[in-house]
Amino acid sequence: MWEAEVGNASWIVRKTLKAKQYLQAAGLQEQDLMQMDTFSINKIYMQLRGSFPKVPWRKVVCNNYGSAKWIFILRLIICGRILTRDRLVKWGITKDTSCPLCNTGVESVEHLFFSCVISANIWSRILAWQGIKRITGSWCQELAWALQSYKGNSATAEVYRMCLAGTTYYIWQERNARVFQKKQRSVDSIVKQIVQDVHCRGIVSAKLNRKLDSMNFYP
Ligand SMILES: [Zn+2]
Repeated sequence: MWEAEVGNASWIVRKTLKAKQYLQAAGLQEQDLMQMDTFSINKIYMQLRGSFPKVPWRKVVCNNYGSAKWIFILRLIICGRILTRDRLVKWGITKDTSCPLCNTGVESVEHLFFSCVISANIWSRILAWQGIKRITGSWCQELAWALQSYKGNSATAEVYRMCLAGTTYYIWQERNARVFQKKQRSVDSIVKQIVQDVHCRGIVSAKLNRKLDSMNFYP
């Protein structure tokens, strides 16, 4: 019993000393704490964390109902980290620069998303599914479009961001399937997969569900 109490006391002392270290790291001294009327954990956390510049694309990536793997690929594309053949050639990993989807263009982020005739076809059909009638642009234009016109919390904006993430993911997956497994799916099949997955993921939100109820067809 006595040993347990001593053990608890030493645990509390260790925790207190540790907390003191954290507070000092946040620039707070014991005297500052004693003079505080209210104590904000959030404020201290922000001081400990430091400040970081906000990247403009965070709203497309962070507020996205797409799956974790969709968001991961979208983030790689936005950051220019996806391993397209134009990058692999520079590293001497391959000499083949051709796009596995159309076999004519040079595979790069700009080509795959969505200058390529195959990926442009997929994205334009996903746009049409959302009732958007416009010609697909380059990746820079598409990203800028998403950031400017679909940054809010409306169901339309949230479905759009999810569609962008899902489409980029399935285009990248199709590219990998053709390169590594020598398997090929049709544009129809990929579009259907994106539509079905967006519907499935929209189930978690009543707002998205209502929006997707009006999109119960394949483009
Ligand atoms: Zn292509």
